[in-house]
Amino acid sequence: MPLSIADFASLTVAFDSTSGPLNHAADELFSHVGQSARGSSGEVAVTLIAGARGSDGFEVRVESPKVTVAGDSPRGALNGVYWLLEQLGFLWVRPGAEGVRFSTGPALADGTYREAPSFPRRTLILGCDALHDDWRDWLEFASRNRLNSAFFHDTPPSVIRPPGSRRPQSAREIAADGKGWLFERWDDDGRAIRREAAVRGVALQFGGHHLPTLLDRSLFAEHPEWFPSRAGARDPRYNLCTASPGAIAEVKARAREFFARFPGAAVYHLWADDIRGGGWCACSECSGWSPSDQALRATNVLAGVLAEVAPAASLAHLAYHDTIAPPAVTSPAANVCGLYAPRNRNYAFSIDNRDEHYAELLGLAKTFSGRADSLGVFEYYSDAILYKWMDPPNLLVLPADAVGYQRAGVTDFGDLAVTPRPWLGPTWHAWWFARCAWNSHVDRPNELARFCNAAFAADGAAVAGLFQRLDSGFRQLLDLGDLERIPRHDVLDFSDRPREALSRKARQAGQAMEALNGAAAGLTMSPGGLGAGFRDDLAVSLAMANHLAERLQAWDAALRGDTASAFAHLGSARRHLGALNDWDARHSSPAYANLSSKMLQAASWHTERIAALTAG
Ligand SMILES: [Zn+2]
Repeated sequence: MPLSIADFASLTVAFDSTSGPLNHAADELFSHVGQSARGSSGEVAVTLIAGARGSDGFEVRVESPKVTVAGDSPRGALNGVYWLLEQLGFLWVRPGAEGVRFSTGPALADGTYREAPSFPRRTLILGCDALHDDWRDWLEFASRNRLNSAFFHDTPPSVIRPPGSRRPQSAREIAADGKGWLFERWDDDGRAIRREAAVRGVALQFGGHHLPTLLDRSLFAEHPEWFPSRAGARDPRYNLCTASPGAIAEVKARAREFFARFPGAAVYHLWADDIRGGGWCACSECSGWSPSDQALRATNVLAGVLAEVAPAASLAHLAYHDTIAPPAVTSPAANVCGLYAPRNRNYAFSIDNRDEHYAELLGLAKTFSGRADSLGVFEYYSDAILYKWMDPPNLLVLPADAVGYQRAGVTDFGDLAVTPRPWLGPTWHAWWFARCAWNSHVDRPNELARFCNAAFAADGAAVAGLFQRLDSGFRQLLDLGDLERIPRHDVLDFSDRPREALSRKARQAGQAMEALNGAAAGLTMSPGGLGAGFRDDLAVSLAMANHLAERLQAWDAALRGDTASAFAHLGSARRHLGALNDWDARHSSPAYANLSSKMLQAASWHTERIAALTAG
């Protein structure tokens, strides 16, 4: 007899109660089936078993009314329990209680079911204060969707402040401060974060662009030789001179304090400054080393300190912007892992298709080969900074990426969640990442239908169709074509070079918006699902998409000398941006203001630059 939720009305669970994750797995079973099975008469006995392996796959044996969940490890058993709950009709489609969805129907036949993840480590990267405020909900969401690692990262970067400093309260003050407050969050909640992560068998990661944080710029006056040489003179901006013994001693001392203040992570991140070009040292000693080599030299030094204070932990070498190429002459220390962050890639195509970045990844894989947990990927599927307030579904690209990353030997697949505005409705992007990280050969139509039916109830099939049309439109909008990048600007700021590439991009953006606006037109949602939130979220996403597309078309028209068309598109670009500003003022909590304020100003700056070009 196949088991259904009704059979769990009288549930018994046998498990080793000394294991935190097994306790949590039992709690999750009881709390989920308790409500839904009430009133029926079934009697199921579940046994939870945990092996001692490093992996977190599982086997579930169903011999009705007995169920055995055997994990490779305690985390594996917890994964098995979430798999079991999914078979009974549960799904977790956004953080928080609202995201726990149940639909009756499915049943589980007798048999043995075995699953193992495509990537040993699967990481949700929580990248800003507003998401850190809700870390409990995000950690639970990640764990329930079988991610096994949570990375506390900060955009904008946090700074070392006097003890007892508090984050400002109002949006205006937070925007004016313009910094991250992760350090104070960890001071307050670090103990609780470590406890809740341990209970779930979730590894922690911590940090960001904090190599420069370790060298106080005010030391320049006394020790200019600690700082990089540029154009023949020492310069206090960015990073350090890795050939300077004084600079090395200083960052080692500060790193020791950093690891002591933020204990408990499996992987630390102390990356260099977040810029392209000009960040490193050209003194007589350093000039022979590439930016990647200088960055790895600094990382190796800090890894030496980490090996003393936390021998089991690793430190990441970030391959990003001008450190994207593998180091040529420096070898990573034993506790240094690689982290590949392809921010400048094209999201219209998968990472291994038409993209030079895949070659860089393979180079990095070679540098870090032969070590466990050697190679991480820092991806951007839930990055509403890169995507400029939008949240494209990445329906095709994400699973194709997962296949490419697995083929390259990636051991830690991570998704950066960072946003200047709250996500309304289900967080498909984060859910879809978790699915593809678990199984790179995911059954795309089946999983899309499963998500949409859970999240949108009666509208499930319609929204699944809509997702496919949106994915196609967004891939057109996100395509970078042959456009060169503007230095120090993000990828979707686009550029006007080569000139013909801008014309092609402007036409393509117009077509993308026809597809996207057409797909969303007349969207109605019935009650019973999370459709209302989804519809509001889509409106925000499409306001920015329309703004970007109109801006590109205005730019192209201005350069063509078609002033009338340029003004028409500019008017439309301003209207959509105005709607976003209004939305921001009404709906965002102050915690988003250290990101939203600058981003909205930048969008306005780009628009008015085109207006000046048109008028001139
Ligand atoms: Zn130097």
